[in-house]
Amino acid sequence: MTLDELEGIRLADHEDLEHEEAARRLGVSRSVFTRLVDGARKKIAAVLIEGCELKIEGGDYHFENKRFRCQDCQHLVEIPLEEPDPQRCPTCGSFLLANLNLSFGLKGQCRRHGGDPHG
Ligand SMILES: [Zn+2]
Repeated sequence: MTLDELEGIRLADHEDLEHEEAARRLGVSRSVFTRLVDGARKKIAAVLIEGCELKIEGGDYHFENKRFRCQDCQHLVEIPLEEPDPQRCPTCGSFLLANLNLSFGLKGQCRRHGGDPHG
C-alpha cells in the first residue's frame, strides 16, 4: 500500500476523523479519500486473511511531524519537523527512541520541504 493509503487509514481509523476532515488534511477531495481508504482496507484485509506481505511504498507523503517510538514504554513522541530530535522518552526517560520516519526510508525529511536525501 502507499504511504497515502497508510495515512488515510491512520486519519480515518486510528484518529477517527470524519472523512471530510481527513480528506482536507491529506489535501484530496472527500471522494478521493474514501476510495483511498477503501483500497487500503482491502489490502489490510488481504494481509490479515491471506497472510500477504504488507508493503508500504513511497508516495507523495507529507510528514508534518517527526515521530519516535519509545522502545521501553511504547510511548509515541511526536514533534514538529523543525524541532531537534528528542534524546529521551518524556514518559519513562529511556534513550531507546526509534525514529518512525526513518523506517519509511525518508530519513526524517519531507520531500515537499525540499529535504536532500543525501544531506
Ligand atoms: Zn518511554
